[in-house]
Amino acid sequence: MKFFRFSNFYQGRLNKGDELIAALTNHLKEKNIKSGLILGIGAVSSAKLGYFNADTKKYEEELFNENMEIISLSGNISIKDNAIFPHIHAVLSKRDFSVAGGHLFSPTIVYAFEYQIYEFTGEPLIRQFDEETGLYLWNE
Ligand code: ZN
Repeated sequence: MKFFRFSNFYQGRLNKGDELIAALTNHLKEKNIKSGLILGIGAVSSAKLGYFNADTKKYEEELFNENMEIISLSGNISIKDNAIFPHIHAVLSKRDFSVAGGHLFSPTIVYAFEYQIYEFTGEPLIRQFDEETGLYLWNE
């Protein structure tokens, strides 16, 4: 565990038709936010979710081509492969009020999205491949 100090708080939105991960990453790069917490709500017109299968150590991905509400989106920001990397999970609700959730992949197309970012100071955490889990985990 590493100590961080909260430094800045941002709020913003993405536009209808944006690819969520790419657009959010662009906002992070514009402000050079390398460490922090992301929260968001909104809606998508399609989304790709992932389930990490611990037996195969691979993500199983599914593309949902339907309008869904983003009930809860949360994620963290760190460095992976020398680049700013947002790691994002989401719970999405469907018309029948059932939900789908998981690791959020591209392409996920925004209908509307409002987010908050809490930026932390200090050296950012760095993701490195972990043989035991098959995941890119923090170095701390
Ligand atoms: Zn994940």
